[in-house]
Amino acid sequence: MFVVGTAGHVDHGKSTLVQALTGIDPDRLQEEKDRGMTIDLGFAWLQLPGGNEVSIVDVPGHERFVNNMLAGVGGIDLALLVVAADESVMPQTREHLAILDLLQIPRGLVALTKTDLVEDDWLELVTADVEEVLESTKLEGSQIIPVSAMTGDGLPELIAAIESMLTETNPKKDVARPRLPIDRSFTITGFGTVVTGTLVDGSLEVGQEVELAVSGRTTRIRGLQTHRQKEEMAEPGTRVAANLIGVPHEEIHRGEVLTIPGWLRPTTAFDVHLRVIPDAPQSLRHNMFVTVHTGSSEAIARLRLLEGDRVEPGQTTWAQLKLETPLAVAKSDYFVIRSNLTTLGGGNIVDTHARRPRRNHLPTIERLETMEKGSDREILLKTIEMSEPSGFVDIVNRANLNPDMAKDELSGMGCEGLVVTLGNGAIRNGTRFYTSGGWTALGMRVRNALASYHEQFPLRPGSPKEELRSRINLTPQDFNDALPLLNEGGVTVESGSLVRLPDHKPSLSDTQEGSVTGYLKLLDSDPFSPPTDSPIDPEVLSLLDEQGRVVKVSETVVFSATAYQQMVGKISSHIRDEGEITVADVRDLLGTSRKYALALMDHMDHQRITRRVGDARVLR
Ligand code: GDP
Repeated sequence: MFVVGTAGHVDHGKSTLVQALTGIDPDRLQEEKDRGMTIDLGFAWLQLPGGNEVSIVDVPGHERFVNNMLAGVGGIDLALLVVAADESVMPQTREHLAILDLLQIPRGLVALTKTDLVEDDWLELVTADVEEVLESTKLEGSQIIPVSAMTGDGLPELIAAIESMLTETNPKKDVARPRLPIDRSFTITGFGTVVTGTLVDGSLEVGQEVELAVSGRTTRIRGLQTHRQKEEMAEPGTRVAANLIGVPHEEIHRGEVLTIPGWLRPTTAFDVHLRVIPDAPQSLRHNMFVTVHTGSSEAIARLRLLEGDRVEPGQTTWAQLKLETPLAVAKSDYFVIRSNLTTLGGGNIVDTHARRPRRNHLPTIERLETMEKGSDREILLKTIEMSEPSGFVDIVNRANLNPDMAKDELSGMGCEGLVVTLGNGAIRNGTRFYTSGGWTALGMRVRNALASYHEQFPLRPGSPKEELRSRINLTPQDFNDALPLLNEGGVTVESGSLVRLPDHKPSLSDTQEGSVTGYLKLLDSDPFSPPTDSPIDPEVLSLLDEQGRVVKVSETVVFSATAYQQMVGKISSHIRDEGEITVADVRDLLGTSRKYALALMDHMDHQRITRRVGDARVLR
């Protein structure tokens, strides 16, 4: 199904024409009826002669309500520009036309209304005027159809033209992520909250769990309607009314976006390709404040120009919009910027969650160019590069690609070595990716971090994993997934809870070797009751223990390796002969004190050489 949107100067006959075409008065508000003027969006629908229905969004033409016009015009397939034959082209004719052009509305028709008020030769002049303003816009060469809502002249021709244009229109894209930018929220007695909008990017179903992306609230769809007909499912490109469960209508504002949960994160800064309209009254300056309109939403934003400090009417540039209030937008959405009630320009969103930009920086511009125009593959790579490692859902959202397509593309890229996939098995929502460049860079970071750890602690066999993780600043999950791949790639060697560089060997300096010799001599001076207050660096002692040159049986008791082996031998053969041994037996057997005997036996239990039975030990 398709949506037609009106456009044109106030009082040029838009609402009257919609009513004449559809029989529905699009001016819903009492104030509109009282003032005889459209203030907000109006909605109607038309059954075409071929049987298809088409939705119509009627917009206000008054310059004070261009913001409302903007909230309705997003998502339309065909623009119906209405120009009154008696007044011809007026300021909002031009402004609305510029907006249609900025939003890249693909098709248009011009209805030259009120023909009952003018002579034929005047009509020719007005037609020429209209042709001229359409020049060099997307609507250039559009059909111009003279009509009168009063007499009905030209209405059948207009309907036929609408029908023929829509048969040539491609259905809205479906990326399986429905978005309903909400333009109205109200309550219906007995049903509760109803929101309306033009559905894009996917379909919605009754019963489905949904999220209001800006506020983050989740809810469920109780019912769906299109053109007052109940539907089980709404397809992209339709005007939809959705009845929501449990959210008061006053808490949902125009500009909120209804979507499936968990993907559309509101943003406060996005990068754009901006075109300043030739009619803009002034050049745009870096850091000026503007109002941004996109979908049905609007927000105040600071305009950051990425190339130079100024951009002139008619020029195009890369820019960032830093928003004062968050908006929920997707890549490739169109937007318009305005200031002081005048339209200045607009364009398309290229990076939805932009970082503070580097201005006048060629690589930034090149990245944005690829994000805008690159192949799916190039866009995926650039998207991952922006924050590595990137999760699948984030990548797909930021690149605004169909998830299944992105999955295929990424697994192909994995096989070709363009990306590194963390974790194993199929690509899931949580799967994270590095570009090959990003992965190499991570390897370097790991090498540097370990090298500096080894330099700082040359005696330690390796760094505790957690220490390395925090040095390279990865999340625990990313680290755990990356480590096996780093080991496989020969960057690291993991042993127990430690990780080291492959060529790292703890080693003692000459002075340390000297003190070790003295220390070992000291231990051997009384091998089974060695001194316990020995002045040796704890790091050196750990290394000796690690290397098997000493055995540290408790915090204070350390034996030389030979003494330890001898004692274990004596104790084992005693147990073999006697069946068991007590601490007192050990003390007597070794001619040592209870302190050493106790520490030794605890250690042997721990080593699973012996086992405690009552007061005695037996062999395991
Ligand atoms: P909108 O502001 O563009 O929606 O304009 P309206 O539909 O409210 O029309 C403005 C005025 O023009 C109303 O008084 C209409 O009755 C009148 N009007 C609209 N269409 C025609 C037409 O085809 N012929 C004549 N004579 N008057 C018209």
